[in-house]
Amino acid sequence: DTVARMGGDEFTILLSNIGGSDAAAVVAKNIMKQIMLPFTLHGEELRLGSSIGISLYPDDGTNFSTLTRHADAAMYEAKDAGRGQYRFFSNEMDSSVHEHLSLERDLRRALENGEFYLVFQPQVNVHDNRVVHCEALTRWKHPERGLVPPDKFIPIAETTGLISEIGDWIIHESCRIISHWRDTLTTLPTVSINLSAQQFRQESLVDKILAILADYNVDATAVEFEITETAAMENAESTMERLSRLTEKGFSIAIDDFGTGYSSLSYLKRFPVNKLKLDRSFVMDIQTDPNDAAISSAIIQMANSLGLEIVAEGVETVEQRDFLAAKGCSIMQGYLYSKPLESSDFLDYLINIRYGHTSEQN
Ligand code: C2E
Ligand code: CA
Ligand code: CA
Repeated sequence: DTVARMGGDEFTILLSNIGGSDAAAVVAKNIMKQIMLPFTLHGEELRLGSSIGISLYPDDGTNFSTLTRHADAAMYEAKDAGRGQYRFFSNEMDSSVHEHLSLERDLRRALENGEFYLVFQPQVNVHDNRVVHCEALTRWKHPERGLVPPDKFIPIAETTGLISEIGDWIIHESCRIISHWRDTLTTLPTVSINLSAQQFRQESLVDKILAILADYNVDATAVEFEITETAAMENAESTMERLSRLTEKGFSIAIDDFGTGYSSLSYLKRFPVNKLKLDRSFVMDIQTDPNDAAISSAIIQMANSLGLEIVAEGVETVEQRDFLAAKGCSIMQGYLYSKPLESSDFLDYLINIRYGHTSEQN
């Protein structure tokens, strides 16, 4: 057996005469188990996680470079699947890795080339049609590929560490736009900014946010941060501390994609959060799937009794809206109201809604 460090945090393990894939899986599991064992460094107990990709000779390649490339592809799949996973190479992975690598390369240049922009999606109170908040969503206009969806590039930005710079830009750009909107409208909806798990882990996050807001003379009450349920629960104690530091400064916090992760209800009660966002996957089939209907109404009830605001995501039809409203959810975000809009279109939307609203009342 040979173990070699290929660079960074990547290692290659060569097992000869391993037999079949079953034996390789056993070895992979054992290695992951050993790596996971806690160890002490300067008095701190630490744990490491690992992801393993496996390629087998001769099926997955007959030379070293093909075998390592394919093991690498499998490792990316394992990483995407979450911590502590291993994956065997399959042919579909090859093309997805090529794509991943080329996006990664382009992503590095996207920021300096000015290829990102923000769009805003209203969150509307069903009872009076007021736009109470809006969510800032990032768009990447790739020079050749066109729009690359955030579901595709945010995870790459996360694993490469680029999210730190991109995330800073998102906060800057949101503030710049808020201060621009202020020239036209005196009262604005709060702007909700997504924080990725990686960003949320940064020690300097709160100070950085405060510095950016100060640059644009934007008040903490003008923005809100969304963090996914999964990211929040990852390390509940440190989440608690980070969230407290944000709320102490006056920021609102929303738990995103609520219902898709595993929340501890006792944490949920203790976290200083202001709102939950009911995930789109429940709203989507609320009319047809009794389970989704039951989960949605349970989450709405829970939020209401914990005194948390609840926003339903992905509301596309009047039926969905009416069902959710009847269950006690008043704030909706979805195509029924509007798709995410570019800054100037969003400003027009706000002006129209307000105008339409007052003329309706008169
Ligand atoms: P998310 O935070 O859950 O954002 C909501 C997504 O649902 C957005 O997709 C939005 O366009 C979409 N959506 C809203 N209403 C409807 C609807 O009625 N029907 C349908 N089919 N879709 C609807 P988008 O903009 O593609 O973003 C996808 C995900 O990418 C986001 O999910 C978020 O996790 C991530 N993301 C987007 N922008 C950012 C960002 O600036 N920072 C971070 N960290 N993540 C972002
Ligand atoms: Ca969000
Ligand atoms: Ca969401």
